[in-house]
Amino acid sequence: MKKIAILTSGGDAPGMNACIRACVRTALNKGLEVYGVDRGYKGLVEDDLFEMDSKSVCDIIQRGGTILKTARCLEFQQPETREIAANNLKKRGIEGLVVIGGDGSFTGAKALSDQCGINVVGIPGTIDNDLAYTDYTLGFDTAVNTVLWAINALRDTMTSHDRVSLIKVMGRRCGDIALYSGICGGAEYILVPEIPYDLQKVAQTIKENRENGKTASVIILAEGAGNENEIKTIISLISGSDVKITTLGHLQRGGSPTMADRMLAAKFGSRAIYLLIEGKTNRVVGIKGQNVIDLDITEALSQKKEIDKELYRMAAELC
Ligand code: ADP
Repeated sequence: MKKIAILTSGGDAPGMNACIRACVRTALNKGLEVYGVDRGYKGLVEDDLFEMDSKSVCDIIQRGGTILKTARCLEFQQPETREIAANNLKKRGIEGLVVIGGDGSFTGAKALSDQCGINVVGIPGTIDNDLAYTDYTLGFDTAVNTVLWAINALRDTMTSHDRVSLIKVMGRRCGDIALYSGICGGAEYILVPEIPYDLQKVAQTIKENRENGKTASVIILAEGAGNENEIKTIISLISGSDVKITTLGHLQRGGSPTMADRMLAAKFGSRAIYLLIEGKTNRVVGIKGQNVIDLDITEALSQKKEIDKELYRMAAELC
């Protein structure tokens, strides 16, 4: 393999830039030519590719977002569109493609490989930590640290005013951001989509806490776990507390990547390039414990992500 391309796809995540840097520098050091694809699969279809050198990735290790940009490309589900994308790689002699993104991006990569014979390697880049085969995805640690910063700030003011802070974080189907930030931020309640909860009971406990002198509480709500306004109404009504909602939104996607995410970026990027060089393709990289792993993309996509129930049980005993 002499030429490879890299793209970022799906939602952006802190650490994507550090990972692009790791891929580019490793590939150049191993004698490969490297192309960047602008705007994910959309740019691949529109032939928006450019050659990258070592300087292309200068001064980006610390920056959130992705210099390659990302875009949704629904047309990529059509075989004819993938054919166009593959031809744009083939006409340049590009044989390998690194895709940094989430499960949607991996599904696109697999389809491109199955249909058009492009060798792909996937790197999990998403703040949601919603891929079952890996302990962590790139960007998750930074996102959780951003939420922790917000919890700390909100705690100061909520405690001063004896209020309940209802903090809505990202996670439509996966409650990991809520669970990890809730544990590490000392939240009184963590509401996640995977585990049912009794809102009346939550409100009743907050009421009892108030009566016992604990007048401020933090509730972390994953976006898929309920409607913040309804939750606020019920808690206010039953507990008599003043509940303030804070939606962190896109704040969680940005920011300088943490040490943990930069290290993951370096390890994932390096392993991805070595896999392509060794001809081990149609694989995804991940981390299990301290070890970088790789496995077949189809096998990775077939695994179903579940929340760590033991961690959730533990969290309930910490408040
Ligand atoms: P993520 O990678 O973060 O899960 P998306 O689900 O938005 O994000 O997927 C990113 C891109 O991957 C989509 O815009 C589309 O181009 C491509 N993609 C997603 N699902 C498929 C699919 N079933 N077939 C082909 N391409 C897909």
